[in-house]
Amino acid sequence: MNATPEPAEPSGTGAGASSAATDILDPDHDPKASYAIDQALVRRLTGLVRATSGESVRSVSQITGQPLGDIPQSSAQDVEEAFRRARKAQATWARTTLKEREALFMRLHDIVLERQDEIMDMICWESGKARKHAFDEPLHIALTARYYARTGNRHLGTKRVAGVVPGLTHVEVNRIPKGVVGIISPWNYPFTMALCDGLPALKAGNAVVCKPDAQTMLTALLGVELLREAGFPEDLWQVVAGPGRVLGSEIIGRADYICFTGSTSTGKLIAKQCAERLIGCSLELGGKNPILILRDADLDRAAEGAVRAAFSNAGQLCVSMERMFVADQVYDRFMQKFVDRVNAMSLGATTEWGVDMGSLISQDQLDTVVEHVEDARAKGARVLTGGRARPDLGPYFYEPTVLENVQPGMQCFADESFGPVIAVYRFNDEADAIARANDGEYGLNASIYTRDTKRGREIAKQVKCGTVNVNEAFGATFASIDSPMGGMRESGMGRRQGAEGILRYTESQSVGTQKILRFGPMFGMSDEQYAKFMTTSVRLMSKLGRK
Ligand code: NAD
Repeated sequence: MNATPEPAEPSGTGAGASSAATDILDPDHDPKASYAIDQALVRRLTGLVRATSGESVRSVSQITGQPLGDIPQSSAQDVEEAFRRARKAQATWARTTLKEREALFMRLHDIVLERQDEIMDMICWESGKARKHAFDEPLHIALTARYYARTGNRHLGTKRVAGVVPGLTHVEVNRIPKGVVGIISPWNYPFTMALCDGLPALKAGNAVVCKPDAQTMLTALLGVELLREAGFPEDLWQVVAGPGRVLGSEIIGRADYICFTGSTSTGKLIAKQCAERLIGCSLELGGKNPILILRDADLDRAAEGAVRAAFSNAGQLCVSMERMFVADQVYDRFMQKFVDRVNAMSLGATTEWGVDMGSLISQDQLDTVVEHVEDARAKGARVLTGGRARPDLGPYFYEPTVLENVQPGMQCFADESFGPVIAVYRFNDEADAIARANDGEYGLNASIYTRDTKRGREIAKQVKCGTVNVNEAFGATFASIDSPMGGMRESGMGRRQGAEGILRYTESQSVGTQKILRFGPMFGMSDEQYAKFMTTSVRLMSKLGRK
């Protein structure tokens, strides 16, 4: 495993923290200075938080360990004010046409692509991830903005449906915005997770109050700045900052709908609170995702895909793979290729291109990964490669790790590690492999490598996951914004992306208009005659093939 660039001090300072591409670096940057990035930018961004508590929390770079800025914290009163403003803005916004909204969405699309270097810099500084993994984020937001810009009518336009009496009952269905949507998002994809669920909410005519994770506030705020630059009304998207367990209830208590992305345990708490208020919610939660390498797989392609599947963003990706099932017939050849590729990965703390994996986000994440690997090792698992923290690269680095002989009873067998750790299992019966892939409580994402893509799609139907990628890790579904994305079982409720990703933010409203005939006796009929007339009519319509 290569370390690129030069190792830093164990304190996590200065591991290749140069930033040629950046606009955000303080021009007088001194690696020993207190703040790593331009404080004028930080002030501009933190000014977007609705916060009057007078308290702040320091955001720290995972690349250098230096402070990035001080994030003002919101109180319950600030959440109240955020909702008040959002409601007012929503009333006006809901009257804009889909065409007017489309123009703003396309402007956002262009701005995100133009300013992607700045966005990636901020993501790297704040999360410590490799630039190639940061790149996925502006790309995903550009795709999402374009998709919802251009599919407004398809999803939201008034639709004519069949009336009970052909020609006489005209029925159409409108899509009415819910109102103000509360969005609670995690740190792992801080730019995309802060924005991607809110965009369809806006397109459907809602306002948003969001609470991004405390560890990656600046990246989320940069996203909000871009929304303003694109021309979205100022008060339409409100941001509050603070601990989820405190602000979460304040948001849920006021919102008309909640979109939550995070852990399954928090998702369950949120679902209960939403149920109390009878408001809807979508929950994008954890996973323990399986990848299947079938006997006819293209092994080079599968090995390349498996590396991305397991180690993108150091495994801190809801759709990344933590369990790999490999056909007996190709096991040894595949594993040679896979482990060779893992060993060739470069690790480093930098905002530059050129490293294959960056840091974990925090001590908590590192602790979980260490605990899972050490527990497995102690109970008899074999570490084929990796299995060590790398404080020489930065405080939260951990090597990409491949385990064999992982058994039930080991923590990493069924619990989400959310780190760069994958357990590999051999199989000789495909039905058994599918059953094992379906084991456990989660059902988010799966991947199947086979040369017979038709069969791959057939097998997908037997896998209990919300997305299945054939000959790809996760990108084929996640980047295809027309496809719904979300989890079965304990991986969530509801879907982002596609029609479901926008319709969740609307109420359907049926409007029926009755012409000439009414629903009751006519032309001097008695109730009994009317009942007979209607019965005959219903029989006739059924004979005529009416649905
Ligand atoms: P987490 O549940 O601890 O936190 C996520 C968000 O919820 C944060 O903004 C946090 O402040 C907030 N929060 C925490 N406690 C809360 C409470 N009681 N009420 C309201 N809000 C609260 O999750 P995490 O560990 O930070 O994120 C990683 C998890 O997210 C992993 O399990 C991962 O699989 C999952 N995830 C899922 C998806 C998906 O699309 N399914 C995407 C990304 C991450």
